[in-house]
Amino acid sequence: MIINHHPFSTNDKGNLVIGGVDSLTLAEKYGTPLYVYDVGIIRKNARSFIKAFENLDVKAKVAYASKAFSCIAMVQVANQEGLCLDVVSQGELFTALEAGFPSERIHMHGNNKSRHELKMAIDHQIGCIVIDNFYEIQLLEELLQQEGKTMDVLLRVTPGVELNTHQYIMTGNEDSKFGFNIVNGQADQAFQLLHNHKHIRLKGLHCHIGSQIFETEGFKVAVDLLFEQIEKWLDRDGFKPQVLNLGGGYGIRYTEIDNPLEYNVYVDEIVEAVKKNSERLNILMPEIWIEPGRSIVGNAGVSLYTVGSSKEIPGIRNYISVDGGMADNIRPALYEAKYEAVIANKATVKPIEKASIAGKACESGDMLIWDLPLPETEPGDILAVFATGAYGYAMASNYNRLAKPAVVFVEDGTDKLVVKGETAEDIIKNDLSYE
Ligand SMILES: *Cc1c(COP(=O)(O)O)cnc(C)c1O
Repeated sequence: MIINHHPFSTNDKGNLVIGGVDSLTLAEKYGTPLYVYDVGIIRKNARSFIKAFENLDVKAKVAYASKAFSCIAMVQVANQEGLCLDVVSQGELFTALEAGFPSERIHMHGNNKSRHELKMAIDHQIGCIVIDNFYEIQLLEELLQQEGKTMDVLLRVTPGVELNTHQYIMTGNEDSKFGFNIVNGQADQAFQLLHNHKHIRLKGLHCHIGSQIFETEGFKVAVDLLFEQIEKWLDRDGFKPQVLNLGGGYGIRYTEIDNPLEYNVYVDEIVEAVKKNSERLNILMPEIWIEPGRSIVGNAGVSLYTVGSSKEIPGIRNYISVDGGMADNIRPALYEAKYEAVIANKATVKPIEKASIAGKACESGDMLIWDLPLPETEPGDILAVFATGAYGYAMASNYNRLAKPAVVFVEDGTDKLVVKGETAEDIIKNDLSYE
């Protein structure tokens, strides 16, 4: 049976199964908290984006936004699936290179790339840098001049699309720390610096309108606005973009109230909008790039925890505490993100009560899920939280000196440890004595 729309089933013991392996076996073998990924789902997600472009016979690149979840094994899977890779820091770039990811398929983002990060990108001849600000243009010019090299870039612009999502993850609007504003003319200023540059090859434009988006209208509006600007540059400077990068943000199901579109629907509508505008301007259709992060890994990840203490506050609420929380999943505390969960060893038992799942950190805000319907629960039960594959491990911290959990990949009935869990020694490994 499929559990509450989440792509996992149960076995004849009534236990939750992930990638063909009993989740109880995983919890016992690796301990909890534990991040588990069904790699088959990651592959399926990646393929549905790639396939959607192939079906339309459109030139495209699908770049996995590795900030959603980066480790060597994940980068290797992205490579196996033929994805490109977005990185935003020295750490993400280093991970990609160590994983053997081809540098020409790596794209670098960031609103404050350091000289060192840019140099690393140039030295490794990555595929493209997405330019975000004037300071970066200056740094990049200097570095390329020094080394006598060239670099392909996209210009990141903010077209001014308002989105009906949580404001912290709204980046396409005019008041944003990301990119060059089209409306106030800064995008044009940047364009004039880059167009026909000696060392910097301006391939096209980039825009990322937000995250966890459930409709296609925002993308279509963004494409229209980008083409309004492209038309001006075409008329004035003869500029024809070779690439249009529409970013990520494709929504996934966390709870039953989320109704994500099939990934090909986003692709179909984006392609149609780009096609229509290209025909209008009578230019060749640019290559379309997209950058899904959450939609590649989000629903493939499950977090396993062990239930410990519980607290019943009569007439108010039942609290059940688990052995992880905001240190391994900050999203509920940061964004009031909602999740669903089951008791993995009672996954087919009917819920009889509601309990709120508390993390173990010393913060009242460390609550993973409020008022979750659960069967009778006791210490030692395993709680499985669904759809934690994106921005979970990626945003984990050592708050309260909690050790970061291990990550396990499961595929076709085989499990493999891909990130070791931290130990108490790991927690103090960078500490130096002061006596
Ligand atoms: C965060 C981000 C993405 C990925 O967003 P998702 O919501 O995870 O798909 C893609 N591109 C850029 C520029 C981003 O900042």
